[in-house]
Amino acid sequence: MQIVTLLQDSRVHLSCEIFPPKESARVEAFKQVVHDIAALRPAYVSVTYGAAGNTPQFTRELAQAVQAAGVPALAHLTCINDTVSKIGDVLGDLEAAGVTNVLALRGDIPEGMGFPQGDHFEHAAELVAYVKQRGGFCVGAACYPEGHPEAGNRAADLDHLKQKVDAGVDFLTTQMFFDNATLYNFMYRALNAGITVPIGAGVMPVVNAKQIKRIAALSGATLPARFWSIVDRFGADPAAMRQAGVAYATEQIIDLIANGVNNIHLYTMNRADVAQDVFRNLGSIISTQPPQGAQ
Ligand code: FAD
Repeated sequence: MQIVTLLQDSRVHLSCEIFPPKESARVEAFKQVVHDIAALRPAYVSVTYGAAGNTPQFTRELAQAVQAAGVPALAHLTCINDTVSKIGDVLGDLEAAGVTNVLALRGDIPEGMGFPQGDHFEHAAELVAYVKQRGGFCVGAACYPEGHPEAGNRAADLDHLKQKVDAGVDFLTTQMFFDNATLYNFMYRALNAGITVPIGAGVMPVVNAKQIKRIAALSGATLPARFWSIVDRFGADPAAMRQAGVAYATEQIIDLIANGVNNIHLYTMNRADVAQDVFRNLGSIISTQPPQGAQ
């Protein structure tokens, strides 16, 4: 199933993200997480690549496990650390395993190093073009409602995003954001720039205070005052913080759906229990019919 086909209809789609463990010994046990998340019947489950030091093989194995559980899988693929020929091999292995949706990413530049020299792509747009030219894959890419942290300004970042979409992107997934107004503003600017592919809005339930510094550092996402009030009040009480974090994400999602954003990607961070709570909170809302006349 091509993920873009799914995202184009007018129903609400809630997808989830998992990241594979670093050690092969834990991959087998991790399949329980896959099983529990797949049981929620998300639109698809995406599996990250390399971000936690894991190997392409783990991404592929878990993507296969997701599909074996009856849910479409989206395998992430970064190009910063791999040569073009290695990327060709990874794509060949994915295709042979029946995984034909990829999220084409650059990856983060390793700290203290510049772009690797030699047979490498510098930007995700080049990877997108390469995968599309090769054929056989539905290709997603990343976008940043607040601008990518390396971009000089949001206008330049949007120009680069348009180039990436023009290279053949089928759909986009956003970086996480905590204020829906940021997303609505981005959707407007993207449409104005001629970007019409489906955009999945990335929502992360923050369920413990420890995650917060890491999120701000890694994603560059702004945390609104309303969010900080929750952390100040409940951050020291794990059970209360978890409940408040799930409620915050649930509210964000309800507001998105009410405002016509039907594709939502949950950064579940391997927390099947958190995904279960969010899905439970949204039970009737996910299956709601679009209003008459909606596309
Ligand atoms: P690009 O689209 O190449 O953009 C990177 C920067 O380069 C931007 O600032 C852009 O404005 C600029 N740029 C683009 N084109 C040009 C150009 N022609 N000239 C000058 N500047 C240009 N990382 C992982 O390691 N593994 C993962 O699995 C993973 N999954 C992710 C999933 C999502 C949904 C998101 C949002 C991010 C994910 N990341 C992952 C992080 C991602 O790799 C980093 O954010 C990375 O720094 C940028 O990747 P990109 O694909 O957006 O890069």
